[in-house]
Amino acid sequence: MNIIEAKNLIFSYKSNTHEKVVLDNLNINIEKGSFTAIIGHNGSGKSTFAKHMNAILLPSGGSICVCKIDSKDEERLYELRKSAGMVFQNPDNQIVATIVEEDVAFGLENLCIEHEEMHKRVEEALKAVNMYKYRKRAPHLLSGGQKQRVAIAGVLAMQPECIILDEPTAMLDPKGRREVMDTILSLNKEKNITIVMITHYMDEAAKADRVIVLDKGKVILDDTPQNVFEKEEELLSLGLSVPHSTELAHRLRKSGIKIDRAILTPEDCAKEILKHKGNSYD
Ligand code: ADP
Repeated sequence: MNIIEAKNLIFSYKSNTHEKVVLDNLNINIEKGSFTAIIGHNGSGKSTFAKHMNAILLPSGGSICVCKIDSKDEERLYELRKSAGMVFQNPDNQIVATIVEEDVAFGLENLCIEHEEMHKRVEEALKAVNMYKYRKRAPHLLSGGQKQRVAIAGVLAMQPECIILDEPTAMLDPKGRREVMDTILSLNKEKNITIVMITHYMDEAAKADRVIVLDKGKVILDDTPQNVFEKEEELLSLGLSVPHSTELAHRLRKSGIKIDRAILTPEDCAKEILKHKGNSYD
């Protein structure tokens, strides 16, 4: 079943003098339970696409449906946003309350949910992002990664089918990035929440099931991370890179070391190198 269905999706910004096409006839379906990463250089249309999945922007042409709800259906806007929660880059802009658990409850307050149910959802959401022990803390005193996990908990408490994350780790240090990535992976694998994540870190994209590469508002590549990152030259020509381990494996291959499979992680790379112990590389 598809959670997101973009059909001939077009979006353009119009001024008096010209029209700038930002999404150029996108056809993208995202399956329930999947983890999709969207990459592309600056200005390729990633954020614009993400904003369509949450009806922050509406198509200039074509359509996008989220859980079968057309984003143009004003009467079901709230339902759509409840199904597909959005997490943005800057955690500071997403925090509204002075205590962590109140912040997570904020979105629920508009839903007229009973106090007991609200309490249960907040507790579950904070446990799912591993922030339960910080529930009484002031959010502004948390680290970037912790704040971002609180923002994710706020979305989770709404019990969405899908979470869309627009560069959620861009403002975090390496520890915060790892914490947020681990949280995203566990929500996908253990709670079967569909994840769509925009990132400019190729190592993060490598952890998804599927990588979509956008360029000038069009889909250029759409495949497994293994197949996408095999195309190093094409990615370089688009102003992108590949995960560090993939790059190392490509270089080893060029220098004559036989590495048959696609390499995405340091562990895979280390295993391949060990296999060649005893040859000239040693
Ligand atoms: P990305 O997320 O891939 O960096 P965006 O979706 O943010 O790309 O932007 C795509 C294009 O749309 C860029 O060329 C950007 O300059 C343009 N754009 C974004 N917002 C506006 C706006 N409010 N008015 C006009 N052009 C915009």
